Formats: sequence, C-alpha cells, structure tokens
Amino acid sequence: MEWEPNASLQSWTSFRLPAKAAYRLRCTQPEELLRLPELFPLEELPVLPLGNGSNVVFADDYPGIVLRAEFRGIRCIEAEEDTVCIEAAAGEPWHEFVVTCLRNQWYGLENLALIPGTVGAAPVHNIGAYGVEVQQFLEGLQVWDRTQNAFYWLPASAAGLSYRSSLLRTQFLGQLVITHVRFRLLRRACPRWDYPELHGFLRAAHVFHPSALDVFHAVVTLRRRKLPDPHQLPNAGSFFKNPIVPQEYAEELRRRYPQVPCFPQGEGMVKIPAGWLLEQCGWKGIRQGSVGTWQHHALVLVAYGPTTGRELLRFAAQLWRSVYERFGIALEPEVLILPPEAWQPEELLR
Ligand SMILES: Cc1cc2nc3c(=O)[nH]c(=O)nc-3n(C[C@H](O)[C@H](O)[C@H](O)COP(=O)(O)OP(=O)(O)OC[C@H]3O[C@@H](n4cnc5c(N)ncnc54)[C@H](O)[C@@H]3O)c2cc1C
Repeated sequence: MEWEPNASLQSWTSFRLPAKAAYRLRCTQPEELLRLPELFPLEELPVLPLGNGSNVVFADDYPGIVLRAEFRGIRCIEAEEDTVCIEAAAGEPWHEFVVTCLRNQWYGLENLALIPGTVGAAPVHNIGAYGVEVQQFLEGLQVWDRTQNAFYWLPASAAGLSYRSSLLRTQFLGQLVITHVRFRLLRRACPRWDYPELHGFLRAAHVFHPSALDVFHAVVTLRRRKLPDPHQLPNAGSFFKNPIVPQEYAEELRRRYPQVPCFPQGEGMVKIPAGWLLEQCGWKGIRQGSVGTWQHHALVLVAYGPTTGRELLRFAAQLWRSVYERFGIALEPEVLILPPEAWQPEELLR
C-alpha cells in the first residue's frame, strides 16, 4: 500500500484535469483495506474508489482519500454444462479481461470490447455498448464495507444495476469498495449483433453468421473509428446519458424529425441517442478554447489543451441548454462529476 498527501489526480483520470486529493492511495491487496481505519481518520475523510478514472470529472480538489484498487487475478470458479462462473479482481483492465474470456471460450462480453477502465468499475456504471450491458452477465461482487471494516459478497440483485448506474454509484458511493466481480458467462457462443450499427457493419463485410470473435473484431473496429483514444486526446467517453422518454413524446419527436433514431425500452419508454440531439443543435466537432466536442461524435467532450473541470462543465452546460431549449429534454451527465453539486447547468451559464 502506498499513499501520498495533497497529491495530483491528473494522471489518474482520462480527462487529465488538474485536481488534487487530500490523499492518493494505491492498494494492491484487498487485505490492505482492513488497515485503513488505523491509518486514516475515516469518520472525517470521504473515500472515493477509482479505477482508471475514465468516467470521472473532478470540478474541484477532492477533500478525502482517492483509492485505486489495483487487485489482480482472474479465475474460473465453477463450470457447468452451459455456463461458467468467472471471478476477476477489481484492478484487472476491462478490455484485457474481455480478451481473456474469449481466449478461454467464455462468451458474452464481446460486445463490450475496448471500453476503457477496470473490471471493478464495470458494474458501478453498468457499462454497456452495442446492445449488451454488463448486468446481463453479473453474478455478484465482493466488497469492502468501510462502515464495518469487513468484506462480504453482494449478489447482483442487491447492487441495483440500471441504465449506466447502480447503488454503488449512488447510495453506496464511498461506502463500498469492490474487490472482486463474478460473472456468469456462456460456454457456447451466442453472438448478439442486432444493434443497427454493428449489424450494418457485419452485413457490409458479408458476414451473415458471425462468431463471437467476428463480433469482437467488428466492435473494436467500429470503436476505433468513432471514438478518440483518451491517451491521445483526453476525454471520458459519452458525457451525457441517452435520455429515455415516454413513447408519446418520441412519436411527437418523430413527426417533427422523421429521421430521429428511437430504441424502444419496454413499458412505454423509448431511448433517444443524446449524440443525435446534440448534432441537431450543431455541436459536432465544435471547439471553444481548450474544450470541445469530438469531430465524429457530439456526445464525446474532449480537452484539446490544458483545462479545468469548471471550464469543461461550463462548456457542457451550453450543450445541455441547447438540447433543453430545442427538444425540452434535460440531459443527465453520464460521467461522475465531483462534487455532484458542481453540475448546476443554469448556474454555470450565468
Ligand atoms: C473513450 C471512452 C469510451 C467509453 N465508452 C464507453 C461505453 O461504450 N460504454 C460505457 O458504458 N462506458 C464507456 N466509457 C466510460 C468508462 O470507460 C466506463 O465507465 C468504465 O467502466 C470506467 O472504468 P474506470 O476503471 O476508468 O472507472 P473510474 O472512472 O475510475 O470510476 C467510475 C466509477 O466507478 C467507481 N469505482 C471504480 N472502481 C471501483 C471499485 N473498485 N469499487 C467501487 N467503485 C469503484 C468510481 O467511484 C466511479 O463512481 C468510455 C470512456 C472513454 C474514455
């Protein structure tokens, strides 16, 4: 275990914003967490678990411990006729984990290839892409609970995963640190390629019966085309969530804009791509000072030069306002903004 007081978080987040933490702490073994109460006044200091920081925006310095869980290890816990239970430690890089699963013929996660970050963060924000979400394969989480200074297992059903969220990100943020994640994967490939962009790509390549590996390669190619590499151009992927609106509103929108993409979610709700809404407002490939939107995707905010969390949020607030004024939809950030009170779009625009 290593810690540093008053330490920069710039290299710990994909946006590389110049915030500091009261303490920056790296743990390589879960048991090290048990020593935290004797080393730090935990009743006074908030704790923020972090993976690669690819979904976080620090608007200000963090007044507590930013803890990177660097635990490693992947193992097969149990193999049944149709499924396997795989356990991965929180610090495993997500994409490498997906590759390991494919190599071992443990199927299901191939649509989630190349998402930056760690295994530990994947359930927190219920990562998803190309028609698949991690909750479809999640069995459970081992967590360290700071209020009890103890480890226990949480079944997936108790972690409250929903669209790009979970209880780990809301109610339990700072209370629970994930040490291990268990996935229930398939022993026979069942490739999912109904997502329109993926489907179109595979058909154009004359692939009509894709294997899991075909889907994996297609997803990697599509993502490389569409998204900026955070190592080259700092960003945190999609800045806003795709809004989910009532069917009647989606129909009204379709009357006004016949080309609007709509993804039915069941129960009379429809998902509208936030990137499409932003594009209609003219936000694709726009730069203002050191911040802007990515040239191929209006939903991805990027730092073109040194910037601050506040500058980034002021820019994001302009995007938020134009979608609100044109479509009456209040976009919600997908990135975790800290402190959460820093996201007040109307205040930021004053
Ligand atoms: C270019 C790019 C593309 C992206 N594409 C996608 C995409 O297609 N789909 C998608 O869903 N996301 C996407 N993202 C967002 C991001 O990759 C995911 O949210 C990812 O899971 C973040 O992993 P991380 O390790 O960087 O987490 P961090 O950003 O470090 O943390 C994210 C959240 O998880 C919590 N957390 C992290 N580790 C732990 C732990 N051990 N215990 C408890 N809580 C923890 C943090 O407190 C925070 O709330 C993209 C990001 C980028 C930069």
